[in-house]
Amino acid sequence: MRTPLIAGNFKMFKTAAETVTYVKDLRGLITASKVFGVDVVIAPPFTSLSAAVDAAAGSVIGVAAQNLHWEREGAFTGEVSAAMVHATGARLVIIGHSERRTLFGDTNETVNKKTHAAITGGLVPIVCVGETLDQRDRNETMAVLDKQIKESLDRVTGEQLSRIVIAYEPVWAIGTGRNATPAQAGEAHFHIRQRLKQWFGLDASEKCRVLYGGSVKPDNIAKLIAEPDVDGALVGGASLDPKSFFAIITGAAAK
Ligand code: PEP
Repeated sequence: MRTPLIAGNFKMFKTAAETVTYVKDLRGLITASKVFGVDVVIAPPFTSLSAAVDAAAGSVIGVAAQNLHWEREGAFTGEVSAAMVHATGARLVIIGHSERRTLFGDTNETVNKKTHAAITGGLVPIVCVGETLDQRDRNETMAVLDKQIKESLDRVTGEQLSRIVIAYEPVWAIGTGRNATPAQAGEAHFHIRQRLKQWFGLDASEKCRVLYGGSVKPDNIAKLIAEPDVDGALVGGASLDPKSFFAIITGAAAK
């Protein structure tokens, strides 16, 4: 049985002070509620990681970075390593988000390097995959997912996969207000689960959590997470307000 995971990707929003206020509000909502059985993660910008970890201490809220560089240290201006993220107290990292793939040159090869760096550095990678609208219209969705997963997780062992999180995020659904239907998400997640079983073995495939991402909101989470292979959500816009993020967490608790 996989515990549902709801992760909030803040993207380039919120200062450290704003993040602390957010965490206080969110943990207040969680503490006051009877919601349990859902893992909760927030991914604020690098500059807010330490403050978020401090504000979340003793709560169920985990903290993730949004990216990393695969080298441990070096002359890589503007980059941050897994060891540096780990030192903030964050324990997860989003890798290969479609915005990083389309705007900042991430490829399956760099995603693979980053995934290995995260694992070596003691971080849980949340590896993002997903097709564009053109690819979906050309019926290439499953082939695109196969290539992204195979190459992004190259040389990952079954034992490592069981602790990795995969986020299926159709690019056409991110930040557009147009989410995949539960049936579309369910079909892609089922396909991903079958491939994980084929490539990493039954045990690892059953332990690996696969999140859906793309315009998840309080009013659509329940139907999405009801799909058997949807283990939670990676939430962008709707995670920025603690009340709406909490409503999504509540919706996932039904699983
Ligand atoms: C995301 O940034 O990963 C995302 C899914 O964004 P949104 O929920 O805003 O579509």
